[in-house]
Amino acid sequence: MQNINVKTKLLPIFFIVLLMFGLFACLSGAALAEEAEPVVYASSGHGKAGETVTLTVSLENNPGLSSYGITLWYDPSKLTYEFAKAGELLPLMFTAVKRGDDKVNFNSVNFLGNFETGSLLFSFTLTIKGDVTDSVLAGDALKFIYDDNRDSFAVLERGTINKPENVLPDITQPVITIDPCDHVYVGEVTKVPTCVEEGVMTYTCSKCGHSYTEVMVKDSSNHVGGTYEKVITEPTFDTEGLMGIYCSGCNALLSTEPILKLDTTITELLQSITRDVLNAKKGFDDLNNVNLVLTGKTLTLVVDGREIVLSTNANNKNQSGQIDLGDGYKLVFDIKGNGSNVKEFSVIKK
Ligand SMILES: [Zn+2]
Ligand SMILES: [Zn+2]
Repeated sequence: MQNINVKTKLLPIFFIVLLMFGLFACLSGAALAEEAEPVVYASSGHGKAGETVTLTVSLENNPGLSSYGITLWYDPSKLTYEFAKAGELLPLMFTAVKRGDDKVNFNSVNFLGNFETGSLLFSFTLTIKGDVTDSVLAGDALKFIYDDNRDSFAVLERGTINKPENVLPDITQPVITIDPCDHVYVGEVTKVPTCVEEGVMTYTCSKCGHSYTEVMVKDSSNHVGGTYEKVITEPTFDTEGLMGIYCSGCNALLSTEPILKLDTTITELLQSITRDVLNAKKGFDDLNNVNLVLTGKTLTLVVDGREIVLSTNANNKNQSGQIDLGDGYKLVFDIKGNGSNVKEFSVIKK
């Protein structure tokens, strides 16, 4: 009875011990598995477009490392690789080699054994391109990869941890957050405003190159397209006229010039000369009615109702020419100013 009694009391204790042992084995197994998982950890950083940013790469849960190789892939339109510096873990043979224009391979090796302490593998510096407008650079713009068979993490004696049956350490990828630029804009006129068209002012940030444009209002003082003249007030024998000079672009009145009074003296002179000369000519027998008539811009000599046009642009300065009067005579004229101020007027024998 006693023996049976002891057996029934010992059995539950045996199971409890078995259970506790199993639990312990389970816990320690999990703890060991966690300890054995090395992870490559790339730090994150931030900077403004145009600035440099330095990130670090560490091996967390370092199992003891004898060599490593890992490749940074980056978007060269957004980042420029500058340089790298070895950390405390495997620093002696560290190299960083650019491959193409979008990869850098970082590697180091120690032939003497494993590095058991420390976690910082290396730091590296990138320049954020000045025209980057992204708010975050990660993934497609920046990531670490194990490139082909070149890259690995190796542990001497304990074997490599990148054998085909094993998995390379997970990589915690870097993230660069782009800080907004404290823009310093410098304005430049890229299209000069005129009296006809608006202009363009382009503002460009001297730090990051970002630019925007602003419309400049028309410049009513910058006349383009030439000028034309238009009579504002016709001259009379008693008063000066007024000639307006206008902008062909915007029709603004730019300036005025006086038009000299019609000169009665010269008109009389013309009449006397032509009368004398024409008196001698057949076909002009009655010369009582000889006049110089300015109609608009046309200066006409009228003799007995017969008209001889002297100038069709009497407002132009320095008109000159000659008219064949027939019978071996020609009329030579030289007009100054507005057409009524005749400098020379003569009839000469051809
Ligand atoms: Zn800026
Ligand atoms: Zn104008």
